[in-house]
Amino acid sequence: MPVLQHYFFRDGHMFKSTHTPIVTLFAASCLLAGPAIAHEAHVHGVANMDITVDAQQLTFQLHTPLANLIGFEHTPSTDRDRQAVRDMATRLRTPNAAFVTPAGAACTLSTVTLAADNMPADLLGEAPKKEVHQHGKKDDHDKHGHSHDHQHDHKHAQAHADLDATFIYTCGKVQQLHYIDVPLVTTFKGITRLETQIVTQERQMAVTLGANTTRIQLK
Ligand SMILES: [Zn+2]
Repeated sequence: MPVLQHYFFRDGHMFKSTHTPIVTLFAASCLLAGPAIAHEAHVHGVANMDITVDAQQLTFQLHTPLANLIGFEHTPSTDRDRQAVRDMATRLRTPNAAFVTPAGAACTLSTVTLAADNMPADLLGEAPKKEVHQHGKKDDHDKHGHSHDHQHDHKHAQAHADLDATFIYTCGKVQQLHYIDVPLVTTFKGITRLETQIVTQERQMAVTLGANTTRIQLK
């Protein structure tokens, strides 16, 4: 469900979708979801990220054009494409590859969720999606998914696509979280500008990261 929310709301193309009532419903629920849902346009090179720090949890919600990570945005059609997606997922899921926190804060990566509307979930290291189109059987879903993608390709041959990634860390001593380093922006050179918004229990701030600015100073 959240995957569809992001897809419909963030991909301008989807407003041309034939599923108008569903789009409306999802758009409404996105608005209710609050500031975590960014509305920025899809611009290659630019990515957005919301960071939330609460009592014991550090959460990153990254939204980026897929082009920034793998250089293309079409549904993988070759082994090379598929491997590029797998490699991206592996890098994003590797602890300390995307984010580094001070040892004193005792943060450990507990959950990574990757979603992109035109990428098979298994390539992203996710369990296959179920009930996305409210079909009970996996076979039905696959068939439906295919025809949907097919239709989508015809209607929007140049469609762009984004990755939504959520990283959740559990921190033993969040008061020691003086900074967050974001090697993500150097690991993936396609990200030239990462607009971040940080909300902690004490304050709210916005920081723009890039190849030369990879640290968010919190204290
Ligand atoms: Zn694009």
